Amino acid sequence: MGLALIEDRDGSVWFDGEPAPTAITVARTSEPKVRTADDQLQFGTVFTDHMFRVDYTEGRGWHDPRIVPYQGFDFDPATAVLHYAQAVFDGLKAYRGKDGAIRLFRPRRHAERLVNSCRKLCIPDLDVDLILQSFHALVGVDQDWVPGKRGTALYLRPTVVATEPFLGVRPSNTYTYFLIASPVGSYYAEGINPVKILATDKYVRAVKGGTGDAKTAGNYAASIYAAVEAKHMGYTQVLWLDGVEHRYLDEVGTMNIMLQIDAEVITPPLPGTILPGVTRDSILTLCRDWGLKASERPITIQEVMEAARNGRLKEMWGTGTAAVVSPVGELGFKDERVTINGGKTGALTQKLYDAIVAIQYAEAADPHDWTTTLAPFQVRQTA
Ligand SMILES: *Cc1c(COP(=O)(O)O)cnc(C)c1O
Repeated sequence: MGLALIEDRDGSVWFDGEPAPTAITVARTSEPKVRTADDQLQFGTVFTDHMFRVDYTEGRGWHDPRIVPYQGFDFDPATAVLHYAQAVFDGLKAYRGKDGAIRLFRPRRHAERLVNSCRKLCIPDLDVDLILQSFHALVGVDQDWVPGKRGTALYLRPTVVATEPFLGVRPSNTYTYFLIASPVGSYYAEGINPVKILATDKYVRAVKGGTGDAKTAGNYAASIYAAVEAKHMGYTQVLWLDGVEHRYLDEVGTMNIMLQIDAEVITPPLPGTILPGVTRDSILTLCRDWGLKASERPITIQEVMEAARNGRLKEMWGTGTAAVVSPVGELGFKDERVTINGGKTGALTQKLYDAIVAIQYAEAADPHDWTTTLAPFQVRQTA
């Protein structure tokens, strides 16, 4: 296993014109894994040969950025994150375009959101540029793992965890940021398929002043109970309502929610209880590019059910990196179930999906510069 330094060739991509200040050491695996065929890929089940890691120690800051073979951690059982969930993550994808080049979709937005999530959990700031470097470096080293079939991608999971072994509730003095990568298949084998969602006024996900706008582990642990109950009732996901009045739509599962009533596209605003989705922002931008009225406004479940009953609810869909756009074919609330667009994918939902996917795979122009081509880098072998 040789040690090497990665140095970027032109410094223009992740340092904004600055010369490269950070060297990332690379320890390559001596046992590369067998890769799964593109058409066999699922979601989040296989991981690439390497991972990126950088550690934080109080007084020293973030240090020793490195790429190492994909491996487990050796944590003390008292490690803070295992008890008090001081952990944040994000999720983004690298796509292999129709020209063969690899592109990251809005990586800076994801890196900035990770830093925001860190702040909410009192995790010391990571440099956005270091996070971006980690994306480029790991995807660069594992670039053969980026699948080529349309609909597939390399999913990146940047994560920060508190690593100090102690019992007691306070910020940890040590942390690890790690980045792992998973080649993933098309979220739905047969293109996009409508899901059934259940609006709940029994459980809540987030309240103002809480952690709803951070991608933090605890939010997901707390959502499992309601999700399992909804599954037993035949639904795919839970549609969360606001935590105070149980009336206003928040979001669905791990996606933001959007709907179309008459000609208006509506999505809840970002009052601090909702994760500010990168896909949400991209879809809103596309809608506005196309001259549609796209409103970020509070909307109650009563307004949605009423619109469904009198035929004004045209379409409904979720947005998120994993599925990109996920049509909603059925909505349940209390004792009522309504079918949306005959349970089929709506024309606007399909058009939005097609438009964003075409940008991701470089089949269409990218007028908002959402994609970043993988940075070229050199690997300099050291002894
Ligand atoms: C990640 C996530 C989203 C979607 O965000 P994207 O940036 O579009 O992937 C929405 N809601 C929740 C709760 C999430 O965790």
